[in-house]
Amino acid sequence: MNVSEISGKNCSGCGLCAAVCPKNAIKMENKDFFLHPVVSAEKCVDCGICFEKCPHNSFKREENSEKEVYSAWLKDQNLVSQSSSGGLFFALAKSILQKGGKVCGSVYDDGFCGAKHIVSDDISDIMKMRTSKYVQSKTEGVFGEIKKALDENIPVLFTGTPCQAAAVKNFIGENENLYFATLICHGPTSDEVLKAYVSELENKENSKITGFNMRKKVKKWLPMYIEASFENGNVKTEALHLSTFGRIFQSNVLMRESCYECGYKDFPLIGDVVIGDYKGIENITENYNKMGVSCVIVCTEKGKSCLKVFRRI
Ligand SMILES: Cc1cc2nc3c(=O)[nH]c(=O)nc-3n(C[C@H](O)[C@H](O)[C@H](O)COP(=O)(O)OP(=O)(O)OC[C@H]3O[C@@H](n4cnc5c(N)ncnc54)[C@H](O)[C@@H]3O)c2cc1C
Ligand code: SF4
Ligand code: SF4
Ligand code: SF4
Repeated sequence: MNVSEISGKNCSGCGLCAAVCPKNAIKMENKDFFLHPVVSAEKCVDCGICFEKCPHNSFKREENSEKEVYSAWLKDQNLVSQSSSGGLFFALAKSILQKGGKVCGSVYDDGFCGAKHIVSDDISDIMKMRTSKYVQSKTEGVFGEIKKALDENIPVLFTGTPCQAAAVKNFIGENENLYFATLICHGPTSDEVLKAYVSELENKENSKITGFNMRKKVKKWLPMYIEASFENGNVKTEALHLSTFGRIFQSNVLMRESCYECGYKDFPLIGDVVIGDYKGIENITENYNKMGVSCVIVCTEKGKSCLKVFRRI
């Protein structure tokens, strides 16, 4: 039995099956706008490993030992402006780097037409990981890199969606050096939508995009803006909800089948800390950072220890 038995609505596209196949028989291919595993009948020896490891079949939720919820933001307002919410990711990432660790997070790839996870201890990569990319981030290669770092006793912070965190947990198993900062997740849209949007912008401007941010803050945190910088020196900004990309993303018309019935977001939450946008905080208090507030849910003792480090930054 292999992962071709797993139906579309149960496949989150995490890529774990391709990483564990000992015969390299699985390729993640674009079908119906999203990556799906395709098994080569010639190479597959029916060992069943991919099927057993698939989080849909075998991910075991653990009851969260700690449940604390905070609103938080960094003191450095520049760092807050460069992040999606209050900048919690950057604080956690910096604290791991200070411990000699590595961070696994998402950066734009393919000329800003897509996103992929990378593992790095280089601060310039960590800066690129900041801000949400609302397309599915590819995971090819990162499972092995995380394992290699952990085998060398290097701490790793994984940040990503809950389904990706479940896949990393299934691949690695319990490891005290592996930390999870998981996102509150609406579900991304297809990178085909981003590709079409980028090409629309480049055609209008007759110039290549050299910088792109879909969580640009213009004077304040919300509404969200898209900012694109071009080779010709121009910079274009438009409200996310008015852009063709944003309208497709925010209206939920084009998401993975698995995102419409996602089980990964249920309680108990997956991750040591779960981070998101603290939207609606203005209804609770006036005492909040107008440039962005993170919602932080602490789920485990490890998460609590991350937050203690964070308090020192
Ligand atoms: C697809 C998606 C949907 C989201 N939906 C919600 C929501 O409904 N409600 C809510 O409160 N928050 C949501 N978030 C989270 C929110 O947008 C911020 O990412 C989060 O608050 C962290 O902000 P920050 O300021 O701490 O970090 P930032 O500096 O913004 O760091 C962003 C972090 O997100 C990771 N990341 C970026 N893009 C992706 C991606 N495509 N896939 C996996 N990881 C990625 C980066 O690796 C980095 O760790 C979503 C994020 C994504 C990527
Ligand atoms: S959920 Fe992940 S492991 Fe399971 S079939 Fe889909 S891509 Fe493979
Ligand atoms: S059953 Fe084994 S050989 Fe076949 S695709 Fe899955 S992991 Fe690879
Ligand atoms: S909505 Fe669920 S399945 Fe979709 S990306 Fe988020 S966690 Fe994964």
